[in-house]
Amino acid sequence: MDRPQTNLAELTAAELEAAVAALGAPAFHGRQILTWMYARGVTRFADMTDLPAALRARLADCCTIATPALDSRQTSSDGTTKFLLRLADGRQIEAVYIPDTPAQTFCISTQVGCAMACAFCLTGKMGLVRHLTAGEIAGQVRVLAHETGLAAATFNIVLMGMGEPLHNYDATMKALGILADSRGLGLHPKRVTLSTVGLLPAIEKLATEPLMPNLAISLHATTDEARSALVPINKRYDLTALLDACRRFPVSRRARITFEYVMLAGVNDSRDDARRLVRLLHGIRGKVNLLPLNEAPGIPFRRPDEARVDAFARVLAEHGVRVSVRKSRGRDIRAACGQLIVEGGRKSPGQRLADQLHSSRA
Ligand code: SAH
Repeated sequence: MDRPQTNLAELTAAELEAAVAALGAPAFHGRQILTWMYARGVTRFADMTDLPAALRARLADCCTIATPALDSRQTSSDGTTKFLLRLADGRQIEAVYIPDTPAQTFCISTQVGCAMACAFCLTGKMGLVRHLTAGEIAGQVRVLAHETGLAAATFNIVLMGMGEPLHNYDATMKALGILADSRGLGLHPKRVTLSTVGLLPAIEKLATEPLMPNLAISLHATTDEARSALVPINKRYDLTALLDACRRFPVSRRARITFEYVMLAGVNDSRDDARRLVRLLHGIRGKVNLLPLNEAPGIPFRRPDEARVDAFARVLAEHGVRVSVRKSRGRDIRAACGQLIVEGGRKSPGQRLADQLHSSRA
């Protein structure tokens, strides 16, 4: 008969200490376990050689460390690598390693699917399947850091994979706390960027967090009418309210809020849009990141040509707004923004991979 097991992947250092103490062992062994899991990528209790043998045996008996399993990985011609990961319940998620931007970056998911239904995003087409747990969010970083050999190096995290991080607030913040622990990966929150459609109450709450990541807002339009059509949550939290919240957000002296702006040909890419964007961002310590649409079958928009993107960027720059154009990475393997989708188990991973390879040649 299966006994209920404690999944240590869900625990903070303090909780690990308590779990170990509950087994009658000194609490500091909890911190050692955290170091094994995160800094060294070890998940077998038998391999945790500085723990007493008796404790290792007890742990093996009553605890697990659930770790996302690597179903497949694909590397793009630009070095971007997409990892298809399988969770304990069989659900799949994707996480992406983007090398040398100039930093090393991991793009991590916070949900299976997403409830936000943005009109140009493939993940949004899946709907929300479920939230990820803190252990599953931090577990992606654990797996990628060790698969890429970067556990001891400096890397950044962007919460820009599948899902809306602020819709899964507690698990996301708990994961960031676990990852920040200096006895594990020691990931400073300044190295983390959280991207959101703009869930206002959650942004207000984020503003009070001791471990605050950088904030990126998926703006994407300059009128409420256009934004509501592209990002449906705008019907609840409109542009004025969202930008007011950004004005109040405590941005540290050298930091800025990033405003992501997906560029859709003929929809939001005019000079008038650019001028309206300048006005909207007035008084906010921000910068704009233009994301020319990553096209995919099922997305009913086109990517504007480069000249159009440049003209838009120039209007912003001329008005003193910092702007960059996101270079799409991993488009040939569908690892780019908005292209992360997992088709709910209807196909085998091998079949999906074959499909993806096929469509990238098409
Ligand atoms: N839910 C979060 C994270 C999503 S992904 C958010 O909405 O911010 C990160 C960024 O990619 C978002 O700005 C999202 O709007 C954008 N994106 C989604 N689909 C895209 C596509 N097809 N092409 C370019 N960017 C896209």
